[in-house]
Parts: sequence; C-alpha cells; structure tokens
Amino acid sequence: MKIKKDDQVLIISGKDRGKKGKVLQVFPKESRILVEGVNLRKKHQKPRKAGEKGQIILLPAPTSISNLKLICPKCEKATRVGYKITEEKKSRICKKCGQEI
Ligand SMILES: [Zn+2]
Repeated sequence: MKIKKDDQVLIISGKDRGKKGKVLQVFPKESRILVEGVNLRKKHQKPRKAGEKGQIILLPAPTSISNLKLICPKCEKATRVGYKITEEKKSRICKKCGQEI
C-alpha cells in the first residue's frame, strides 16, 4: 500500500472531493482506507441507559484508495508516491519534490 496510517491525504473524487484528512486505518486486502472526517455515515445509536435519548452519530466509512492522493509532508502538495529501493530498505518518495516521505 502506498498510503499508510497517519498520512495526510486529499480526497480527489466523490462527495468529499477537496477534503483533507488523516488516515486512521488501512485495509490492504480491500484497497480501502479509513480517513478521519471523510465519507461519513450516519449511525443510529441506541440509548445506553433508561431515560437517555438515542442519537445519530457520524462515523467515517472506508474509502477506495483510488479516491485519495497522499499529501507530502515535505512540500505539502498532493502527490503520487514513488519508491526508492536501496540495499537496506525500500522507502517512499514524493514525485513532486523527490524527498523521502
Ligand atoms: Zn513533496
């Protein structure tokens, strides 16, 4: 996966286009990503105690990775991710500024 937990991402399609958020969770098998504040779904919460009202809460649902672009923490631009492979490790690089991210 090119995007990891705690990355900042930009939504590039769908109803949340233009929003930015932090990656909360990555689901590699489904190629889906859970982003804070994005793709919110309403969920009805039942009252937990007698006398308490049920309420509607908003929870983010995972978004397809193809709807997202990584925001480079170095140049702060939405970018595609490249890889640099050296003998010791494989690291991600920003295609805009070329820095390791
Ligand atoms: Zn960059």
